Amino acid sequence: PEGYRTEERLTLGDIFIAVKTTKRFHQSRMELLLDTWISRAREQTYVFTDEEDDALKTRMGDHAIFTNCSAEHSHLALSCKMGAEFDAFLASGRSWFCHLDDDNYLNPWALLKLLSSYSATWDVYLGKPSLNRPIRASEMLPNNQTVQPMVCSGSLVVDVPQGETELIRLPDDCTVGYIIECKVGGQLLPNALFHSHLENLQLIPPSRLTQQVTLSYGVFENKLNVIELRGPFSPREDPSRYGCCCGVSPQTVGWEREAAKW
Ligand code: UDP
Ligand code: MN
Repeated sequence: PEGYRTEERLTLGDIFIAVKTTKRFHQSRMELLLDTWISRAREQTYVFTDEEDDALKTRMGDHAIFTNCSAEHSHLALSCKMGAEFDAFLASGRSWFCHLDDDNYLNPWALLKLLSSYSATWDVYLGKPSLNRPIRASEMLPNNQTVQPMVCSGSLVVDVPQGETELIRLPDDCTVGYIIECKVGGQLLPNALFHSHLENLQLIPPSRLTQQVTLSYGVFENKLNVIELRGPFSPREDPSRYGCCCGVSPQTVGWEREAAKW
């Protein structure tokens, strides 16, 4: 309306990063994140969990958010945390919402670079589907209620046929995808810079690793989904291979040089 506006340059401060975790992973997974990428994005990263923990509070202060969601790997418990994340994002006034699990590595500079290529004037939904085919989802509203399901109320249930549930375990990100694509009419813009541990890490060319926005580790087809990289930490010290990307490595120095260029 004012005729023109100048595009402000996006900064990390414009991004809200939410990490979902649970009590039993505070030590085994969260410590690893805090020692690596979260230390580079401390100001905009918030952790959502299900049980008070002094150790986590000491390290994260008020960026550790203890939800009242139950500590379960059920779709309702996970959607409850996603709801808490989204509410906190809305309250933060930041312009981008970024959701991660506690077994995801984030390269904040690559994220910033990617988001900088989109205009902040319209809604954008970026990510990567873990599966290369659609799943069937149906809405179940208790007692024939007709209220619009919202992730924040935890009332939306994404239902997939038996068998497939084993594979995708009804994650909360599916719930968000369902709301955005089926309810709001938005569309996911798939981007190869995101990575799910349901995909083989070996398929990412080593030269592209430093440009990846996210990387994830875990067991895939009964094998540890990791890649061999030379780095300062032995596989015993760092079974997840997070060490290959953390503070002291040449890769990270490379990222920071990249970030300094734009
Ligand atoms: N998680 C949770 N509650 C649970 C189990 C898992 O909030 O009871 C979180 C966990 O911290 C992680 C995500 O859900 O951020 C996915 O869990 P996991 O990686 O163990 O399983 P996946 O679904 O990836 O196979
Ligand atoms: Mn996982």
